[in-house]
Amino acid sequence: MNNMNNIPQPDSLHRFLFEQEPIRGELVHLDATWRSVLERHDYPEILRNIMGELAAAAVLLAATLKLKGSLVLQIMGNGAVKLLVVECSGDMQLRATAKWSGDLSQGSFAELIGNGQFVITLDPKDGGQPYQGIVDIEGSSVAEIMQNYMSHSEQLETRLWLAADGKHAAGMLLQKLPDTSKEYADSHAEPHDADAWRRAVILADTLKAEELLLLPAKTLIQRLYHEDDIRLFDAQDVIFHCSCSRDNVAKMLQMLGREEVDSILAERENIEVHCEFCNQRYEFDKVDAEMMFVDAIVLPPSESRH
Ligand SMILES: [Zn+2]
Repeated sequence: MNNMNNIPQPDSLHRFLFEQEPIRGELVHLDATWRSVLERHDYPEILRNIMGELAAAAVLLAATLKLKGSLVLQIMGNGAVKLLVVECSGDMQLRATAKWSGDLSQGSFAELIGNGQFVITLDPKDGGQPYQGIVDIEGSSVAEIMQNYMSHSEQLETRLWLAADGKHAAGMLLQKLPDTSKEYADSHAEPHDADAWRRAVILADTLKAEELLLLPAKTLIQRLYHEDDIRLFDAQDVIFHCSCSRDNVAKMLQMLGREEVDSILAERENIEVHCEFCNQRYEFDKVDAEMMFVDAIVLPPSESRH
């Protein structure tokens, strides 16, 4: 028996389609990508699991939106969990981080987050205006929060199943398409089975977390939907990538202004900036600061000089 058939294709996103029904789906498995997030900080277990589910959800949603730029999902809490952030780009590069305080060993998801907000940002990254939606958190899991958000903002009915542990994060999404959609092939002259959506959701509800985390996409789909005709598309890779850079940090310091930068450097040797996502440290000494502002002086637009 070939063991490769029994483990999920690592760090991949699979899209699938019900051939006879207007339903589409996606499956994501995060392995090395997820561990790259975890090895950079020591997250408490419950926070780690919530963040893993949010990471899987971000990939599923980014794939659904077919966006070019990046999607940022944030859970902002006023409990012990202050902030969870996951960013996923249209080409499936992912990064994530979290802020919390105190002991997270006790309490449910809702208690740890308290009265919170869920923020979704779509940044086209082409200079265009980002879209941001902010709602109060409704739900006692990442999947519920996402579903509630989507039921308010999207016309398409969407359901999510998510799971995460210290090694893997995974998720499945089902979306009910309009009968007239392009994805629902035009050969369907017959009205589809009105009960198909409900049945697909009920079957997906039987999924156990271990199955979602550990089964390959093909096996999982066959197990759930062996009576349906499903088209499973080729996998797309998902990788960990942090978009921080020394240049971006320098730009941020330039925006702080020379006075502020000089006053920090009057007290210490270096300005140290630390990326929350990947743990990369960037150091700027007095010479670096000098160069940074010399560069900046070249830049101001000519209309400001009269
Ligand atoms: Zn970084």
